[in-house]
Formats: sequence, structure tokens, C-alpha cells
Amino acid sequence: IGLASSVPQRTGVEVSWKDQFADAPDVLKRSPDDRTIVRAGGVRIGGPEAAFVTMAGPCSVETERQLFETAERVARAGAQVLRGGAFKPRTSPYSFQGLGLEGLKLLARARAATGLAVVTEVMAADDAPMVADYADILQIGSRSMENYALLEAAAHTGRPILLKRGMVATVADLLRSAQCLVSHGNAQIILCERGIRTFETATRNTFDVAAIPVLQSVCRLPVIADPSHAAGRRELIPALARSAVAAGADGMIVEVHPHPDEAWSDGEQSVSLEEFDAMMADLAPWCELRHQRVQLGYTLETVA
Ligand code: PEP
Ligand code: MN
Repeated sequence: IGLASSVPQRTGVEVSWKDQFADAPDVLKRSPDDRTIVRAGGVRIGGPEAAFVTMAGPCSVETERQLFETAERVARAGAQVLRGGAFKPRTSPYSFQGLGLEGLKLLARARAATGLAVVTEVMAADDAPMVADYADILQIGSRSMENYALLEAAAHTGRPILLKRGMVATVADLLRSAQCLVSHGNAQIILCERGIRTFETATRNTFDVAAIPVLQSVCRLPVIADPSHAAGRRELIPALARSAVAAGADGMIVEVHPHPDEAWSDGEQSVSLEEFDAMMADLAPWCELRHQRVQLGYTLETVA
């Protein structure tokens, strides 16, 4: 009896790998080159021609001095967007919860001083209009990815949304949340791979680098990586950032602090100002290679 005779014959309807994303019809690509360009505060993210975008800044807005020092340095090193949490979702209820409105005001002043666009997290639906008054991009954090009431409120502000993948969310779950935003009238969405929970403990989360080409293949929204929350350790961040560029990401979001060991949150995964400069220099040839490939007609997603 030959091996071939024991192979079951395919009879039924062919099931497509892409069927698992069928709940998110409005974010799926309609053609291979269908890609959304997100525009926020003068920055373009996604689309075939857009450069790799760097969002950088502290985990939390702490003081005027901390924020302004960081903003000026990351702008000089090539970042286009300033990150900083004013409303903080923390693992422990005893940790610093953020400066709230005072933090938003500091972010807006740092934008005026540097020209950087601002991304900051919104945690409560009622806060969405207020956060939108100060931010160019509203961040939906990992812990909130499936909070559909929050997604609705954030969508209604009309601001672009940075949607972070939940730490126990599949790619299909992430796309369902993106679909929720589109259903509420907002298609200006940036997806973010920030690491997922697995059995591995050497890193804070497991950076699912494969999610980047998966998303780039099936979905038209820009995809960025968060090597900081994926790694949890600052010395790993430059390597994860390089792998994000190589995998076809449209950008990254990185935590930077003038004195990481004194940071009020996530200091162990924040790079110093000097380390950020070095990391951006290290990344430059990889971004240049990405640019050249785009010029040659290669796409960011997997080449079939
Ligand atoms: C953050 O960006 O500071 C943050 C809390 O990220 P995440 O939601 O991915 O944990
Ligand atoms: Mn953080």
C-alpha cells in the first residue's frame, strides 16, 4: 500500500486561511496594494511611500523637565511623535496612576516646543473628548483592546487611534477591535504589536514578530511595533526594533527616559537619551534598506 493512497482526498469547500479574519471585513485589503495612510499632526504613517515612523518618549509624563528634555532629544534623534502616558493602566493598583489633565497639558506644550505630534492613552470613555483636545493620536492600551464602549467613544472623537494588541489577543481579535472602530466611523487606525503572554519568562512579553507580516498581508492598516513592552528589558530593545523594521513594520513606539532608573513607571524597559541616540543610529541603515526595497517595488508584507 503506497503512502499516497492513505492521504485523504479533498472533497469539501476549500477553507481559506484568511477566513479567520472574516469578522473584520472593513479593515481587510481589497487588493494587494490597498493600504491606509494615517495622518496625524503632519505625520504620515503607512502606505507604500511612508518612511518608518518613530514614536518615542516616557512611559508616563512625570514632570515638565522630564518631558521637555526627552521630547527635545527624541525630536533631534529623528522621532516624529512624542509618547507619554497621562492616564496609566498599571499592573499594580499601588503604582503611579498618571498626572491626568495636568499631563495632557504638558504634552500639548511639549508639542508646541518641538513640533512633535502627540500620542497618549485614553482609558475611560468619558475622558475621550478631553484627551482628544490635547492629543494628535489616541492610544488604546493592551488592557483596553476589547473595551468596546471605550473604542466607540475614542472613534467618535475623530482622532486617529493607536490600537495596541491585547496581551492575550489573537491577530483576529485585534482586527475585530479595529473593525469596531471602523463601524463607529473612524478608519484612521494604527495597529501595534506589543508582545503577548506565553510560557516564556525571559522577556516581559513574547514579541510576536510574525504578527507584523500577517497583518501587512491581510489588513490595510499601518502596523507598528512596541519593542519596549515586548522586551521589558532595555538592552533587548535595539534588536527587537531591527527585527520590526525587517519584518515590514510601518513604525515603532519606544519608551525613553532621561534617568530610567528613577522613572515612575517602566524604568527597566526605558532607554536613556544616549541609548536612544545610539539606537536610532543603529537603526538608520536598516531603515535605509527598507526604503530602497520600497523604491525597487518590494512590498512590506511577505512577497508571495
Ligand atoms: C504603554 O504604552 O505605556 C502601555 C501601558 O502599553 P500596553 O498597553 O501595551 O501595556
Ligand atoms: Mn509603559
